[in-house]
Amino acid sequence: MRPPLDARSLITDVPDFPKKGIVFKDITPLLADAAAFAAAIDELAQPFVGKGIDLVAGIESRGFLLATPVAYRLGAGVVPIRKKGKLPRKTRSASYALEYGQDSIEAHADAFPAGSRVLIVDDVLATGGTAKAACELVEGIGGRVAGLSFLIELGFLKGREKLPRRPVHSLVEY
Ligand code: AMP
Repeated sequence: MRPPLDARSLITDVPDFPKKGIVFKDITPLLADAAAFAAAIDELAQPFVGKGIDLVAGIESRGFLLATPVAYRLGAGVVPIRKKGKLPRKTRSASYALEYGQDSIEAHADAFPAGSRVLIVDDVLATGGTAKAACELVEGIGGRVAGLSFLIELGFLKGREKLPRRPVHSLVEY
């Protein structure tokens, strides 16, 4: 059996990045640790095994690093949800407020077939603005959000409250 994941010791706080007052959660030490990475992917996927997930949507850019192996683990396809202007074909977009700034995210307009069951994956749930916009995007295109899975939840920012009645799974809470 795999040893329990000690994710906390492999997540580094970087104060005042990218702006003063933000404590950035750097997950690169966790990603670089083979055993911890494998355990984290298994734990992100675990509640959704056997739940008929068709597609895993990863949010640019650290979400891609997690969504792709989670999709492989679940036997699902993977879809990138990208920052504005990066996708080559017709897109749909949704706006969101970041913990630091405002932006919009996009997916290809045909990325989520009608009724497809979609798991959204990202590294950090902070204020929940990005995740809420990702849900709107998936559902606006035609998919059904089966759940959301995050490595880190910043509980004090109450992002979960922006995702009422959604199955939200996170591995480490601060
Ligand atoms: P939010 O929309 O506020 O939930 O912010 C979530 C998005 O911003 C995720 O894609 C994260 O990658 C990023 N993010 C927000 N806060 C942090 C943080 N403290 N450390 C690292 N990434 C963050």
